[in-house]
Amino acid sequence: MSPPDVRSQSDYGHANGWDHDFPVSDPGDAPGYVGAVAYCGRPVITDTAELRRRAPDVAILGIPFDDRVSYRPGARFGPRAIRQATSTGGGHSLALDVEPFRILDVVDAGDADIVPAWPERGHAVAFQRVLEVMSSGAVPMILGGDHSISWPVVSAVAQTIAPRRVGMIHFDAHADTADDENGVRAGHGTPMRRLIESGAMDGRALVQIGLRGYWPPPAVFEWMRGQGMRWHLMREVEERGIDAVVDDAIIEVLQHADMVYLSIDIDVVDPGMAPGTGTPEPGGLLTRELLRAVRRIASSVPICGMDVMEVAPPYDHAEVTAMVAHRCVLETISGMAARKVAADRVRLPESGTTAGVRNEQIPVSIGGRG
Ligand code: MN
Ligand code: MN
Repeated sequence: MSPPDVRSQSDYGHANGWDHDFPVSDPGDAPGYVGAVAYCGRPVITDTAELRRRAPDVAILGIPFDDRVSYRPGARFGPRAIRQATSTGGGHSLALDVEPFRILDVVDAGDADIVPAWPERGHAVAFQRVLEVMSSGAVPMILGGDHSISWPVVSAVAQTIAPRRVGMIHFDAHADTADDENGVRAGHGTPMRRLIESGAMDGRALVQIGLRGYWPPPAVFEWMRGQGMRWHLMREVEERGIDAVVDDAIIEVLQHADMVYLSIDIDVVDPGMAPGTGTPEPGGLLTRELLRAVRRIASSVPICGMDVMEVAPPYDHAEVTAMVAHRCVLETISGMAARKVAADRVRLPESGTTAGVRNEQIPVSIGGRG
């Protein structure tokens, strides 16, 4: 073995060949396990004024809150687990042939300021934080958190996009339309009822997919019918297939809404593929059915927000549930990107403008920047 270079006895970099220049990673290209925890390695911008200056198309927002669950707690750990389940930077969607982050500016707006054991405060903070984030023009994408949060979140979305009407496609094993759970009217089994009763959302603009199991009782379905709600049981998905059901849901929701909020309770997926949740129901969607459905919806309707809720990491195995949730958000972003690209392609012949001009008529961001 030859002795180290004599010109410097203590230059270990030179002596060991560590003084070469290596290529530096671009931000966002780093592996998912490197660096601060942010959704897909996106820039983290928590300051509202900075968000407004940047005016992103999409803002990821964690709401680590599970004070309103009826059964197993743990969804407060969901946002962090979903962010950590990143194994991809989201470069190129093979299903849609788009590079979502080249088409849409997506940032991670951090977590809402939640403290434990103060559920009224949690709902108020969620409402206020979504208003703040949306004041930048960004479409909010919520990492939950228990499903009770969708009440304040969708209220804030409805308030922001008015006079445009919000509708919802809601994937869930459960209808979440009870009047109360054990006397509690703001639980995770009641948010859709509160949204309709408060006027934030027209019952006719709420379409549900994946309901199964043994809840709610017939009287609740009676109430739902009275509101003009539409729902597609898991049994119908089994009989007709997910594509036919999603086609119907898209038509139904657009009859009474101008923009669509996509709410995904991860328990819509079969517990064999998404065990990490508080109230699992056997016999659910395949992961690939849900991801396909999400892509089809986001690429065909104007999305004004989305959430993925009820991911409870303490019951998860091998991060499988967190990965499904992570991918639901990414497929939504890719679908929106594909819709925007298609709109640009459609517009060019009519307008005669040059390639690359953004479509102003089919906004992706709430602010309508294009
Ligand atoms: Mn559920
Ligand atoms: Mn739910």
